[in-house]
Amino acid sequence: ASSLSITLPDEATTRQLGEDLVLALKPGDCIALQGDLGAGKSTLARALIRALAEDAELEVPSPTFTLVQVYDLRLPVAHFDLYRLGDSSELDELGFDEALEEGVCLVEWPSQAEDRLPKQTLWLNYAFTPDGGRELTLTGPTEKLSRIRRILSI
Ligand code: ADP
Ligand code: MG
Repeated sequence: ASSLSITLPDEATTRQLGEDLVLALKPGDCIALQGDLGAGKSTLARALIRALAEDAELEVPSPTFTLVQVYDLRLPVAHFDLYRLGDSSELDELGFDEALEEGVCLVEWPSQAEDRLPKQTLWLNYAFTPDGGRELTLTGPTEKLSRIRRILSI
């Protein structure tokens, strides 16, 4: 695995990254969004889903209570929020493996089921910066990160 750091000074850059990541996705991909409350996990997930749907106004409700929201798009997306997950075995009932067979999984609070995530998971780790922005560290398969570098021209 390798890693890559990206500075996200404001919400718009977080949204732009979510949109750009669409180009790097294929069925079976899992993106783990890790960071404290308010880091920007849902902001990125929402932008990514709207870009994939080609619908800037698509409702993307937070899966806080339902734990998962499924989007039947060109590439199906399952958006998880595992904050309230009791045990990682509950992922079975939520259809995690089936979702990965057909499309991609976006997972907020992935530490709740770390043992169940694919080895090839792309990890996005948020840190708050003193100027009010975010520093995002992407960690995952080398070829996935190369692909992302090319998409972002960095
Ligand atoms: P989370 O899902 O991680 O709890 P949300 O995406 O719901 O966080 O909320 C993130 C908050 O931070 C929003 O108010 C958003 O406007 C703001 N935000 C998102 N990205 C950035 C950024 N790169 N820099 C500063 N603020 C951001
Ligand atoms: Mg959230």
